[in-house]
Amino acid sequence: MTRRLYQGIEGIADTSRQLTTDHCPLSTVSEDPKLREECGVMAIYGHPDAARQVYLGLYALQHRGQESAGIATADGQHLANIKGMGLVSEIFTDDVLAKLPGSMAIGHTRYSTTGDSALLNAQPIRVDSVKGLIAIAHNGNLVNLGNIRARLERDGAYFQTTSDSEIIVQLIAHSQAGTLVDAIADSLSQVEGAFSIVMMTRDRIFAARDPRGFRPLSMGRIKNANGPDTIVFASESCAFDLLRAKFERDVLPGELVMVTEDGVTSRQYASGFPQSSCVFEHVYFARPDSRIFGRWVQESRDQMGRQLARESGVPADFVVPVPDSGVTAALGYAEEAGIPFRFGLIRNHYVGRTFIEPEQRVRDFGVRLKLNPVHNLLEGKRVILIDDSIIRGTTSRKIVRMIRGAGAKEVHLRISCPPTISPCFYGVDTPSKRDLIAANKSVEEIRQFIEADSLAYLSLDGLLNCCQGEEKHGYCTACYTGNYPTQWVDADEILPATASV
Ligand code: SF4
Repeated sequence: MTRRLYQGIEGIADTSRQLTTDHCPLSTVSEDPKLREECGVMAIYGHPDAARQVYLGLYALQHRGQESAGIATADGQHLANIKGMGLVSEIFTDDVLAKLPGSMAIGHTRYSTTGDSALLNAQPIRVDSVKGLIAIAHNGNLVNLGNIRARLERDGAYFQTTSDSEIIVQLIAHSQAGTLVDAIADSLSQVEGAFSIVMMTRDRIFAARDPRGFRPLSMGRIKNANGPDTIVFASESCAFDLLRAKFERDVLPGELVMVTEDGVTSRQYASGFPQSSCVFEHVYFARPDSRIFGRWVQESRDQMGRQLARESGVPADFVVPVPDSGVTAALGYAEEAGIPFRFGLIRNHYVGRTFIEPEQRVRDFGVRLKLNPVHNLLEGKRVILIDDSIIRGTTSRKIVRMIRGAGAKEVHLRISCPPTISPCFYGVDTPSKRDLIAANKSVEEIRQFIEADSLAYLSLDGLLNCCQGEEKHGYCTACYTGNYPTQWVDADEILPATASV
């Protein structure tokens, strides 16, 4: 038995408030070896069926969060908002989309770590303030929350959620600035951390990125023969393709873009900050068919594989990716090394969110449910296995054992980024330092733990070179270096396992 929760806010959308029983958001969280992105965002201005367009965009951004999703629409008068637990396609049926009228829409898909409050914190968040109705959808994580929240509460702010995104809206509501756009700029300049946001009032859309540009946010355009262009924003450009929107440009770090009936205007609300876009977007999160931070993800990953082959090549019969995220790097590695590429592990795409009974959480069940080795291919062979990260090490060990169990003679693990030694505070759900194997063991100790014949990671310089486009781009590498671009970090999270707590 599973359940789906909807939350509709205001007027027309309230009719969708319901509880059904066909999906459980608990899923296989403890079995999932991968780091999780917290969100994907989407916005559209000037389309007669805005809700459906955002739905399609969120569908393409589903990899950025699978626990909840929401769409808010506006028609110049009203602002409707529906959020739910589950996948985009499960929540937004035709009936639900029909309750979201208007030519403007914003949307959000989210991975949440909380249980009971998950629906409450689903986005878009809508706040009714003296500045009017504002809906916001946010990708990233703010890091200077405590003081601001306390100050706002002293000033009379009433928070509906525990989400840091609502702080931005409350700052806007309490800003002394004369116009809404000034209030937004004023608010964004007060918060620190990672945010790529889209916002909507009854008649305007806003899009903005934090001054360091941690998370991606692209702007696209649909040319209309008989009227003004439709303007689109999305976390990744892959969301534009289903809409037949053309990628126009990235929203710049520190930029606030406004779309009204008069067209697109932009202002730089903050400048002078060194750029620190998340390099892990190129390693793992973003889709290879997206162009982010001025570069195609596919190109970066292909280069990571090639560089890995140059840095730590080893004789072998096959290069095998850990699907799906290791595939592009493995193709690059195989081509560079001149070793055949083979799908030696097959991923079952239908188990990602399937409920696993607690008694089945033992041993390797979760990994075996998702991945299965191709025995006839692997038997007696020397295998180079390509993956994008080792977090705790337990999943990597299960996969190495699985390949060896299928008869492989040697298993050489290659990782397409440097060792993950520090947690992320900018919107990625990393464990604390004491749980990151690379923060607490040497590469040789990790090799012994995961039982591989050899283990090598991509160098930091190698990774950064692989992610550069025509123009040099500044990246955050904090999870590989411990050097955080912002001052605010959670000290407890960065204690190693050996520290007394
Ligand atoms: Fe990305 Fe790592 Fe920086 Fe987080 S710490 S923003 S995951 S590079």
